[in-house]
Amino acid sequence: MSKKPREVLSQIKDEGIELIDLKFTDIHGKWQHLTVTADMVDEEAFKSGLAFDGSSIRGWKAINESDMAMVPDASTAWIDPFYRHKTLSLICSIQEPRSGEPYARCPRALAQKALSYLSSTGLADAAFFGPEIEFFLFDDVRYNSSEGNSFYSVDTIEAPWNTAREEEGGNLAYKIQYKEGYFPVSPNDTAQDIRSEMLLLMGQLGIPIEKHHHEVAGPGQHELGMKFASLINAADNVMTYKYVVRNVAKKYGKTATFMPKPVWNDNGTGMHVHQSLWKNGQPLFYGEGTYANLSQTAKWYIGGILKHAPSFLAFTNPTTNSYKRLVPGFEAPVNLVYSQGNRSAAVRIPLTGPSPKAKRLEFRSGDALANPYLAFSAMMMAGIDGIKNQIDPGDGVDVDLFELPSEQLSKISTVPSSLNDALDALKADNSYLTEGGVFDSDFIDNFIELKYEEVQQLRQRPHPHEFFMYYDA
Ligand code: GLU
Ligand code: MG
Ligand code: MG
Repeated sequence: MSKKPREVLSQIKDEGIELIDLKFTDIHGKWQHLTVTADMVDEEAFKSGLAFDGSSIRGWKAINESDMAMVPDASTAWIDPFYRHKTLSLICSIQEPRSGEPYARCPRALAQKALSYLSSTGLADAAFFGPEIEFFLFDDVRYNSSEGNSFYSVDTIEAPWNTAREEEGGNLAYKIQYKEGYFPVSPNDTAQDIRSEMLLLMGQLGIPIEKHHHEVAGPGQHELGMKFASLINAADNVMTYKYVVRNVAKKYGKTATFMPKPVWNDNGTGMHVHQSLWKNGQPLFYGEGTYANLSQTAKWYIGGILKHAPSFLAFTNPTTNSYKRLVPGFEAPVNLVYSQGNRSAAVRIPLTGPSPKAKRLEFRSGDALANPYLAFSAMMMAGIDGIKNQIDPGDGVDVDLFELPSEQLSKISTVPSSLNDALDALKADNSYLTEGGVFDSDFIDNFIELKYEEVQQLRQRPHPHEFFMYYDA
């Protein structure tokens, strides 16, 4: 049950908590934090926030206007399991200290605006999101080796576990074979205990946990499953998930990465997102006897998703590396169609039982480096635009798209092939996001500018693979 400020304040007193860690999400989807003594947080702090200097946070305020206020959300309280000193953690949104308005560049505040906008349209009053996050675990040579970090070098271009033939002196010991880590039990699955610890810890922090398993890539790719939640809670859960995964991994001498394509020629890391809209406690996406039992509302929502995907991919797939995952053959869909059950479509309608409550769609193209507040809000805004403008998504496509002859495949539109193209698409198509003032134009311009910089940084550097292709060409 979600806690109220008064209950959190009593918990602080009753449990003798001395420190409070205030966590907030920056534009890139990374948690930043500030730890204060417990007496700094009172009932007023939950309303008008605690002042801090936001000038050094990437993409936020300039030095001359750096004051900001962190407003903790009492319902997010948990004791941080990774700190030695007992510390209560609170997830915050950012607001302007003087006016009390939500800060236009705070992703969590933006998601709150997106939900208010949803209600104001009268179309729905709740949005549920079920993210599925994958990740890789690698040995953390930063902590385990005196020779420094050699892992993030050229080795990552090819599967690092597939290097027996390259090993000096040959393969000196048995190694789990390439692609043999997926689904067999231990000892092939070497990360059972790590994943169990991660999952159970998430449960203790209040995340509705479900399962864990090895994923297809590797050995080394994993997934922990959690249940769907309302938009803000689901995004908070994504942040907590990554925090737990990274910190438990560190404890085991491992490092976790959510990079969409850390290893060439193997499956990448996705964040599929299940979504549905509800009104007055009733699900809106179920329609009896139609294709995949989708209601007209759900079809229009899909229409909006497919139409605006090239633009909102800038939020759901926000890195240069994201587009190395979006290639055929690795279960990461590039085709902007919807389908019942077909995993090669960007929008999949999972087979659900007869309960209308379970009816939802799954957007499969996004990845886990997305800032969840921005990605969920952008997808929902695209869906709302679809409903408002009755955008027809056409028919579902049930053939395996990877098998289609090229002349048929060429008629199907695809996702942008680079971050640069997605940013161009976002520049050209963003009025569906600025409806109701949810994303403001300054936010979008600033985001595009920050991300173009990343495109430039990569474009200007020689790539390790260029040495392979051209060094003595
Ligand atoms: N790892 C795949 C991806 O990149 C998804 C595998 C799955 O269907 O869970 O999206
Ligand atoms: Mg998966
Ligand atoms: Mg999935």
